[in-house]
Amino acid sequence: MHSAIPHLIELQRVDHLIVAVRTEIETFPKRVREADAKLSGARTAVAAARERLVNSQKDRKKFELDVQQWKDRAKKYRDQSGAVKTNEAYKALQHEIANAEAEVAKAEDAQLEVMMASEEAERRVRHAEANLKEDETAVTKERKVIETLQAEKKQQLDSLLAERERALAPIPEDLRELYTRIAKRHHGAGLAEARDGQCRGCGMRVLPHTLQELRRDPNEEIYRCESCGLILYTLEPVPVPGSASGSERAASSAVNHS
Ligand SMILES: [Zn+2]
Repeated sequence: MHSAIPHLIELQRVDHLIVAVRTEIETFPKRVREADAKLSGARTAVAAARERLVNSQKDRKKFELDVQQWKDRAKKYRDQSGAVKTNEAYKALQHEIANAEAEVAKAEDAQLEVMMASEEAERRVRHAEANLKEDETAVTKERKVIETLQAEKKQQLDSLLAERERALAPIPEDLRELYTRIAKRHHGAGLAEARDGQCRGCGMRVLPHTLQELRRDPNEEIYRCESCGLILYTLEPVPVPGSASGSERAASSAVNHS
């Protein structure tokens, strides 16, 4: 095994963690936006309720004016009725007075209805504002949780980056470059284990000769998978005929047969 392989393995382990932490950090702005978006519905509801209230207050003003106008008119006709000369003119005025009074009553009814609607609108505004306040409290809490988590993750990233520097230090420059180049094309993976005669990066067979070379220690050669190009390493022990592992296998099979 090349003496830099353990450091490269460590580097790759740290790099994978860095990618995971960075990916998580990137989700935070979206999570904050999603939390804030929860408020927009409540805000819209408040705005709509306030608009209805303003409209009902306008209606209220309008009917108040109507009532006043018809009352003034009725009063004016009554004042005039003392000065009329003919019976016909008097009757006409009485008719106008009755009509104005009917209009007063109508406007007063309408005014009452609008007042009730206005009160209802006020209640709805208060209700919508209370809802918004509740949502704001919840979102503030949620944002705090997200911010705390974000700070934690950033700290984690910093310590991983420091860890990466430590892993990188003993690796020769040319191998750093090779690793970086390969990792760029393989979603951050620069190495793959050769296990059971296979490259664990792509699943293709690794030549027995290469496997043998991978196990040879020390060996300052770097071997790459012929199929995917990842730097190969092996954690499998060197099989020596008649060694401890061989007799162990024999022993376990003997146990199975008994
Ligand atoms: Zn491969």
